[in-house]
Amino acid sequence: WEKIDVEKRSMDEIYEMEITFNEMIDSLKENFEKQEAFVSNASHELKTPIQIIKSYAQLIERQGKKRPELLEESVGAIDSEADRMQKLVEQLLLLAKHKSENKKQKINIREIVEQVVQTIQNAYPARSIQLNAENGNYEAFGNIDQLKQIPYILIENALKYSEDDVLVSMYSDAGKSFIQFKDFGEGISDEEQEKIFDRFYRVDRARNRKTGGTGLGLAIAKEIIEAHGGKITVESKIRKGSTFIWELGQN
Ligand code: ADP
Repeated sequence: WEKIDVEKRSMDEIYEMEITFNEMIDSLKENFEKQEAFVSNASHELKTPIQIIKSYAQLIERQGKKRPELLEESVGAIDSEADRMQKLVEQLLLLAKHKSENKKQKINIREIVEQVVQTIQNAYPARSIQLNAENGNYEAFGNIDQLKQIPYILIENALKYSEDDVLVSMYSDAGKSFIQFKDFGEGISDEEQEKIFDRFYRVDRARNRKTGGTGLGLAIAKEIIEAHGGKITVESKIRKGSTFIWELGQN
């Protein structure tokens, strides 16, 4: 009897081990596929501006002397593609770095938001970014360089995808603290709202080529916010505008 019992128990254990093992393999496979998709997207995104730069350089080489009017257009395109590539490389490094960096300290998010609003306002004097901060607890424990990226990304997007004022508000509700970034621009459809936080996703690739987007900004913002225990959500209506809401993590 005892023998049968032992055998039965070990069969159960083996069966359980098999389930755990299969789950582990599935999760490894999923991670690997995600990583593979990321590398393939990243290299595609990097190759495109290189190809464009090369083709303009060749155009200048072949026709530049005969058709000097081509020069201005080509140099402009080379310059903006180089800018896009630079931004892409910076953001890819940011994504890679944020996974490995662990320098944490106590941070006053209100100060960070005030600084970033000021810096962006100085860089875009023709636009208006209004900040309204209610009293509250905006302390966080985290990495200051990473946390600074969040208002940068969300305010720059608001400026890029709208023409009116951008409103930044800080408030507390039910013991939680929020920072809200509101614009009155083109808006995002319900369907697109689910995808915009994915890496490399852009609503309209052709149009966004002109705005110099990389499709990484919101993915970076989301990863950093979640790594600090917070949440990001969006509320938006086409042609009415968008509001991105950053809920701070509880300390
Ligand atoms: P990008 O570099 O293209 O701006 P993001 O990851 O920051 O990349 O944003 C992804 C996409 O989400 C953008 O291409 C744009 O279509 C849309 N989007 C982001 N912010 C806004 C906004 N404030 N208003 C309208 N659309 C937005």
